[in-house]
Amino acid sequence: MKVFDSIGSVRSFLNDKRRQGSQIGLVPTMGSLHKGHFNLIKLAAKNNNIVVVSIFVNPTQFNKKEDLQNYPRDLDKDIKALENIGCQAVFVPSEREMYPSNRTLTFEVGYIGKIMEGKFRPGHFAGVALIVTKLFNVIAPNYAYFGQKDLQQLVLIKNLVRELNFDLEIVEVPTVREASGLAMSSRNQRLNGQEKNLAANIYKGLQILKNKIVSGIGLETSISETKEFYKNVEGFDLEYLEIVRKSDLLPISKFNSDIETALCVAGYVADVRLLDNLCINPKV
Ligand code: AMP
Repeated sequence: MKVFDSIGSVRSFLNDKRRQGSQIGLVPTMGSLHKGHFNLIKLAAKNNNIVVVSIFVNPTQFNKKEDLQNYPRDLDKDIKALENIGCQAVFVPSEREMYPSNRTLTFEVGYIGKIMEGKFRPGHFAGVALIVTKLFNVIAPNYAYFGQKDLQQLVLIKNLVRELNFDLEIVEVPTVREASGLAMSSRNQRLNGQEKNLAANIYKGLQILKNKIVSGIGLETSISETKEFYKNVEGFDLEYLEIVRKSDLLPISKFNSDIETALCVAGYVADVRLLDNLCINPKV
């Protein structure tokens, strides 16, 4: 496994591999790797000759300085963990390598930037679009792997690929959870045991909401009853709970079992912001 910190060096390594006929899979991450990331990497290793994992805590997608500062980092541990799981190259650029000081361009991401995560984290998705575009241009993968855990990001990136004509395919990977149901996240490291137990209620709430909806209870009532459940979870501070169409995240007013529906939630446990969703597949 090779570790690259410059765009030039990773490009020339991959150009050689491409000339030899290799298919390249990219797994973009911000590090502090966990089983959710490993699942993406293992899937990439199954379907590609070369797997590139990028590790870069992207400053342009953080709208709060403290959040960027507090984001967990453990590069040595990450690189060790990547040694034997089918990853051939790790791309770990510095901030200066990814962002020249005379940067002039920004992204306008439309509707996605205005709802749910976009509403509470202004500028976040413009930063995601920028870094993912740069990674796609540097690595030029055949396939890029993203988790359903960050559903809004996934939809944004699919739009990006379609609208900017990237010659690659996005592979969507289901959310990996703790036994408690808590979605794995690098941010969970900042929770103690008791807070983790409390955070497991986030997924529990989504399941409650799903059961209400599929049993025919109206969406408004289902939402308000689930919000009541969250209100009673002491130590959890709900930010939003939304029911949307999974493909484009447009709001829906009535549940239709023929259309894939996503239940999306975000909130705080202690000062850690957590995010989750549950998708209801057609014909449950
Ligand atoms: P991050 O390092 O948090 O930016 O995540 C890197 C990639 O891993 C993104 O595509 C995430 O959606 C994905 N990911 C993070 N946590 C999970 C999880 N629990 N299950 C599946 N994918 C995940």
